[in-house]
Amino acid sequence: MTLAFNPSSLSVPARHHIGGQYVEGELEIPVTAPSSGDALQPIPRADAAMVDRAVQSARTALKTSGWGQAAPRERLRALCRWADLIEQEAVRLAQLEAVCSARPVAQAKAGDIAISAEQIRFFAEFADKEGGDLVPVAAHQFGCIASEPYGVIGAITPWNFPVSMAAWKLGPALAAGNAVVLKPSEMTPYSTLYMAELAVRAGLPAGLVNVVLGDGPVTGSAITGHPDIAKISFTGSTRAGGQIMENIARTGIKPMTLELGGKSPVVVFADADLDLAADCIDRGITANAGQVCVAGSRLIVAREIAEDLAARLIERFARHQPRATWEEEAGFSPIISENQLARIDGIVRAATDKGAEILCGGERFARPGSFYRPTLIAGADAENPAIREEIFGPVATFQTFETEEEAMALANHPTYGLCSGLFTRDLSRALRLARAFEAGTVWVNRYGRSRDHILPTGGWKSSGLGKDLGREAYNANRRTKSVLIDL
Ligand code: NAD
Repeated sequence: MTLAFNPSSLSVPARHHIGGQYVEGELEIPVTAPSSGDALQPIPRADAAMVDRAVQSARTALKTSGWGQAAPRERLRALCRWADLIEQEAVRLAQLEAVCSARPVAQAKAGDIAISAEQIRFFAEFADKEGGDLVPVAAHQFGCIASEPYGVIGAITPWNFPVSMAAWKLGPALAAGNAVVLKPSEMTPYSTLYMAELAVRAGLPAGLVNVVLGDGPVTGSAITGHPDIAKISFTGSTRAGGQIMENIARTGIKPMTLELGGKSPVVVFADADLDLAADCIDRGITANAGQVCVAGSRLIVAREIAEDLAARLIERFARHQPRATWEEEAGFSPIISENQLARIDGIVRAATDKGAEILCGGERFARPGSFYRPTLIAGADAENPAIREEIFGPVATFQTFETEEEAMALANHPTYGLCSGLFTRDLSRALRLARAFEAGTVWVNRYGRSRDHILPTGGWKSSGLGKDLGREAYNANRRTKSVLIDL
């Protein structure tokens, strides 16, 4: 065992970061290390007054710096300096990420943080490529469509990939000329705070990035209901997404981007490369212990290869060994909390009560920390909770099919439509079914994102509204204005 860092001696920021400075608050929300169950530095809960302070600081920063109107290349350069600093500080950021989240430190450093820096540069590069449209109007008139930033954007992120989710929100919002008030998950606050600190050190105007700590009901609601926040960008559960829509409907309509839950199918035809499929499925449900919105959690497999593929998966699932996230060799993640582990186990129990069978896993690892064994469940029908509900753990269901029609009927979920996976060597079938999947993303003969920042990501149905990544995410942070002048 090689310790990448010592969790008990890691100093963590645990205050709000507003107007370029840390701001004290009563430390009332506990934070726990999921790898060991140890208590970490608690955090404050921002009330409506503290959220308002952050919003006013964002407005002042926009006014005094002229960020939204400034020469766009200035924005681009400042954001690239921030991305450089994020890379330089990758070790500390990875430690702050790993201590309280489920992210193994090496994966956080080489993956999440490196990719987040790239994504911030990717969005920065849109900043000076804006153009307006001149439109044909009557001869005595001049008409154009201009685009402008919103002003202050409220962002709320989940616990599963704290740095990446912050980069997905901050990158396009800042590049497009806005300021942000961001609330990270109360379970994983530290790395986001450090990103805000780095933004100031990189020369972004103080107050452009404000991080307020707290929970959903108090701090999150104060953000979504704030009259001076012009747009909400949220990633989290479908349940919380619905509550946010309700709060926005009550407190004043504003646009929102909602990246929500998923229950993604992976369909494997008999002609597929089974080793490739097994490797991708394994990664698709065990990465971050399945705590990934796009986790491939419903396997739909041609009957003639079902036994073979199940055996390959059981063998691969057994290889994952838990280690604390602060060990250099850690690969398989803990479940974020004991509550979440109990929920996962509850769905597995309910699945078997309703007639499903556990092919492997189905229990926690006997060791400290909240680690759950990779689990495969067969024989669950459409009404089984293991098929219907987002489990958000390393648990996949295994269903079989005879015909393509049957496969697609199983694949398209009544509620969710985030991602789909397909394994086949038949190109015509791949193209035909890519259209038939009811989901925002389809992966063929692979499962998971690569460094493809240009591809937007987002859900259909109850998996969300709007997109992160891609030009769509940048555009979603600006609004158009039609100008008509009588000459
Ligand atoms: P969650 O919805 O419980 O919390 C997400 C964030 O919202 C947290 O910061 C929380 O404090 C806040 N929040 C909760 N209720 C709120 C409310 N009423 N008003 C305002 N803020 C509120 O989600 P989680 O458990 O942190 O994350 C897991 C969920 O996120 C899963 O459902 C997963 O699929 C989803 N997710 C989706 C994507 C995507 O791109 N579609 C990416 C990552 C995670």
